[in-house]
Amino acid sequence: MIETIIHWFHAMLEHPSSCRMCATLQAQYHHTHLQMHIEQYACEECQQAKPSGPGHHLLTNCDPWEEFAVDLIDPWQASMLHDNVEFFALTCIDTTTNLVKIAHIFEKSSNHNATYFEHTWLYWYPKPMQAIHDNGESSQDLLFNSS
Ligand SMILES: [Zn+2]
Repeated sequence: MIETIIHWFHAMLEHPSSCRMCATLQAQYHHTHLQMHIEQYACEECQQAKPSGPGHHLLTNCDPWEEFAVDLIDPWQASMLHDNVEFFALTCIDTTTNLVKIAHIFEKSSNHNATYFEHTWLYWYPKPMQAIHDNGESSQDLLFNSS
């Protein structure tokens, strides 16, 4: 059972490190050997896709809060209790600290997304100097409609 739960969370959290996944699960659940199970969990995709060596934060020349990456996920499909559900989400990542904020958004309008961006990022952290984003229309709307 614990392996199934770890596998599900690992996929839903977009393949986090064992430290990040352990911290996330321990914030909400208790299992005597949770950390051991997470450290033993070997995701085939991560083993093939994640490079060894220094992490991204060791490669950047930016100060914290100077540069962030933003993306809109539409839609993200997940299986929950035998139902298939779709999510729309906004992700913001400080490229220096790797701090991640994810907001569940409910529609794709630019005003709605800009409001969530303000609430998720701009209300909490200094306004960044530069943004990394794809050239999708929704990302452009998000950045240019935010204050
Ligand atoms: Zn993985």
